[in-house]
Amino acid sequence: MKPKNIVLLGATGSIGVSTQKVAADLPDYVRIVGMASRENVAGMEKAIQQFHPKAVAMTDRDKARELEQRIQSPVLTGEKGLVELATMPEADIVLVAIVGTAGLEPALAAIRAGKDLAVASKEILVMAGELVMSEAKKHGVKVLPVDSEHSAIFQCLEGRNPTDVKRLILTASGGPFRQTSREDFKHITLAQALKHPSWNMGQKITIDSATLFNKGLEMIEARWLFDIEIDRVDVVVHPQSIVHSMVEFQDGSMLAQLSAPDMRHPIQYALVGPKRLPNSMPPTDLAKIGTLTFENPDQDKFPSLRLAHLAGRIGGTLPAVFNAANEVAVARFVEGKIRFTDIFTMVEKTMNAHRPVNQPPLDAILEADAWARREAEHAV
Ligand code: NAD
Ligand code: MG
Repeated sequence: MKPKNIVLLGATGSIGVSTQKVAADLPDYVRIVGMASRENVAGMEKAIQQFHPKAVAMTDRDKARELEQRIQSPVLTGEKGLVELATMPEADIVLVAIVGTAGLEPALAAIRAGKDLAVASKEILVMAGELVMSEAKKHGVKVLPVDSEHSAIFQCLEGRNPTDVKRLILTASGGPFRQTSREDFKHITLAQALKHPSWNMGQKITIDSATLFNKGLEMIEARWLFDIEIDRVDVVVHPQSIVHSMVEFQDGSMLAQLSAPDMRHPIQYALVGPKRLPNSMPPTDLAKIGTLTFENPDQDKFPSLRLAHLAGRIGGTLPAVFNAANEVAVARFVEGKIRFTDIFTMVEKTMNAHRPVNQPPLDAILEADAWARREAEHAV
């Protein structure tokens, strides 16, 4: 197998650093040819010294100049810089691990340039799943999941006939408030919400795991990635985070994928799958883990799942509104301006006020996103 040339967008974040580790572990198979981040100069400099990419970008212009001084070679900048990296001739695959919506345009540019896309940024498929998947089909490129649940489903579906599939079952850790009573939700603090029981991730997704909005986003992500109605995408709470998701087939049999909760597993599969290359990750010791448990999510405590189902069923621009309103709500919660429970209210009110547009082109999606951000500010 000749090495795959990877462009890594969001190189200094939680997924970005895990991807660097996968590349360092499999130097004969994975070569990083481009990397970008927003403002982490020190993180970029360190990664550049290790991987010697052909091109680098930083969206923040001042930080780009600062990095240029330090490495004594040109640094691309702005949103344009991300698109230039995503379309660079050497690239085979573009891994998008930018938090928020800034990954969408470079992802579309990569597809149109004939690159395979590895998607960590679920916002891309939530906002524009229909568009992204149809563009990928048109340009004959693959859309590969990095999100652990979707990677699990992708692995379980390999070589299967879509008509044999009954439903997809996403596992959720349940987050830190699985056993907190609804009455106590009002008093949840930021520090409590940032303590995830099983995964170590960026701040936004950690809060989303506490509200279960992360699982809601993943329901919509699965709907597009696997071209399946949202009614056939279910969620089960599995606090140990060892079973990463399951597929139930028409005959009642289920397939699951298991591994320790370490994002290097799905990242490696997105980059070099279906090959099963040995690596330096510690083995998953099931006997030591001992017990795997499953329970239904509490839909009353976590209205996020119901809202995601609605967004996925109506489709059009509503999922983009769901995503944008949640981003605003999380930002206000982090700033201490709203309570934990207000996150749900903010998203629901914004969704209720929206008139969805069907089969939206990119500009309609971006317009709905911007509208939702303004609208959400007044919702609580
Ligand atoms: P993070 O906050 O740790 O890192 C985000 C990265 O994106 C940083 O490198 C940052 O510089 C970069 N970035 C942010 N805005 C940018 C912009 N405008 N232009 C260029 N770069 C920008 O986030 P993370 O936890 O690594 O998550 C990244 C994405 O992956 C999110 O969409 C998240 O939902 C998804 N994801 C993460 C995990 C996980 O375990 N962390 C698991 C599944 C999916
Ligand atoms: Mg996930």
